[in-house]
Amino acid sequence: MKTYIVGNWKLNFNVGESSIYLHKLQKKLPNYRDIEVVVAPSALALQSLSLQVDRHKVKLAAQNAFYRDYGAYTGEISFSQLRGLVDFCIVGHSERRHIFGEDDKMIQKKVAAAIRNKITPILCIGETESERAFGETADVIRDQVMGGLADVSEEDIDKVIIAYEPVWAISSTKASKYAAPDEVSEAVKLIRKTLKEIYGEKTAEAVPVLFGGSVNPSNAGGYLTVPGVNGILAGGSSLILSEFIDIIEVAKRVRS
Ligand code: PEP
Repeated sequence: MKTYIVGNWKLNFNVGESSIYLHKLQKKLPNYRDIEVVVAPSALALQSLSLQVDRHKVKLAAQNAFYRDYGAYTGEISFSQLRGLVDFCIVGHSERRHIFGEDDKMIQKKVAAAIRNKITPILCIGETESERAFGETADVIRDQVMGGLADVSEEDIDKVIIAYEPVWAISSTKASKYAAPDEVSEAVKLIRKTLKEIYGEKTAEAVPVLFGGSVNPSNAGGYLTVPGVNGILAGGSSLILSEFIDIIEVAKRVRS
């Protein structure tokens, strides 16, 4: 299985800045066949970047999209409009869940819409700090996996990526708030156990599971060596080109 290094730029970089970043990234990056490098720029930049991107080196992801293909949904962008522009779309990021009120029902529809439009959803799941404190982590992980995948058939599950992103570990500036590799390992086991219950063992093992939460070049190796972790979803670090490239290099080292 490939190792995925995904950069979520969130609400950062205008179209020009995105283009310069992509240009520099592609210039510096060798063509690593076993590492899938993905960046998720602002939706505004996707059209122009889709013409600029060298897909042998980098793939594009959207950060979000709406589940209807067209209609009276002011301000939304559909997966069908993204078709051909991106290969991936982040779905159910904790900021969508907690700031914009997306629930598992909506996320389930978005995952299905992505697959329908030949875009790989990167389904984000993860517990909040208080859910962890109240011992609810396992239930939250199970519910979010089950909820997000409720409309995904056995035939289509190989078109999905799951990202475990504990909300309490996202955008942390303190190392004490980073998730420990053991905690990530426990969560990934739970994710795979849930996948196994729904789709059977062989299929469960084939679904890529990424980790995200304040990953940087220094801690990336620790996460990438957790059994069952197939890559990284990076936010803050992906905004600094040198750090993003360093994470890719760490992945290359760990995997070779
Ligand atoms: C994210 O928001 O997906 C993320 C992982 O952010 P950060 O790396 O900044 O914690």
